[in-house]
Amino acid sequence: MFEKLIRQDLAEFNAYSSARSLNLKGNIWLNANELAYDLSNEGFNRYPEPQPQELVHALATLYQVSQDEILVTRGSDEGIDLLVRLFCTYQQDAIMAFKPTFGMYQVSARLQGVEYFEYALDLTNEFTLDIDDLLKEINKKPNIKLVFICSPNNPTGNLISLEGIERLCLTLADKSMIVVDEAYIEFSGEQSAASLIKQYDNLVVLRTLSKAYGLAAERVGSVITNARLVSLIKKVIAPYPIALSVAQNAVAALQTARLALVKSKMFEAVRERTRLFQYLQASSLVNKVYPSQANFLLVQFKVDIFNQLCQSGIIVRSMAKVFNDETMLRISIGTVEEVNKLIKVLENINTGTIGANNETA
Ligand SMILES: *Cc1c(COP(=O)(O)O)cnc(C)c1O
Repeated sequence: MFEKLIRQDLAEFNAYSSARSLNLKGNIWLNANELAYDLSNEGFNRYPEPQPQELVHALATLYQVSQDEILVTRGSDEGIDLLVRLFCTYQQDAIMAFKPTFGMYQVSARLQGVEYFEYALDLTNEFTLDIDDLLKEINKKPNIKLVFICSPNNPTGNLISLEGIERLCLTLADKSMIVVDEAYIEFSGEQSAASLIKQYDNLVVLRTLSKAYGLAAERVGSVITNARLVSLIKKVIAPYPIALSVAQNAVAALQTARLALVKSKMFEAVRERTRLFQYLQASSLVNKVYPSQANFLLVQFKVDIFNQLCQSGIIVRSMAKVFNDETMLRISIGTVEEVNKLIKVLENINTGTIGANNETA
């Protein structure tokens, strides 16, 4: 059913047919113009598998889906871009996402030349999503091909319920793809929407190894959806998106012992999030700290302390432009020591020990 939503000019289009994608068997490889000698002794002279099977297998196990329901991408940023390119026709289609949310949805929409609509989350209601109201807005517009649901949402930290996601999938079955970006789901302890892909063929889930798994430098994301859509996305993906060394490092990072370590760090991040939340809530520097299910906190301070934090060597993310408010900061959860240091610096700002020009504090 979702097939009619893809770009019609791509319906008959075939992807570039790379040498490796033909899956031929043999032992003398004269088909890809590579150097015949393996000077690295690691097989780096050959093009890698278009989808590295060992990594696909490890990720499918991790996310509890079948191997044909997963496409490995160069970070979920690439997954976002591939979906926009596959579904959205230049100057005709549109996408919808929250305001505020992760910036790449808008960037990909702009690059593809399609309209970007924002659905404003209610700041006074801790950004809780009203599904009926969102549906009403989507149905006002004719060509919204993709609805991006970032959950937990960056930068607000709140989670969208699976019931809400199911409502969107059901109601918009003939109209839009629902793309649930779960970059931070590990920190929420909640179930992934990947459990729903068998029920809704207009549902796509994005996962990444960049956040909870500590592998941002490797650029490994996953698009999780039904097998038919996985095949169609292969029309628009680069021939060899995942370097051999990346696949090797990612597979190593998904071994049982490393996963146990990841889990313990994840729990630590959640504990530190609670500790920092409680500290900030009680701090006289803070107007409002928003509850978060991710590994960051959105905080409205009483004054703009961004530069004072910088001067103390602590770099946080200013949300001034997003909220049109200089006092809004997004603070990632650091190590226990880093959170201690942050709290100490905040104490010093509070007592006026930091910041020469402190008259606003
Ligand atoms: C960080 C982030 C990503 C980017 O993930 P990569 O896999 O590193 O490209 C995707 N979505 C959201 C919401 C993010 O915050």
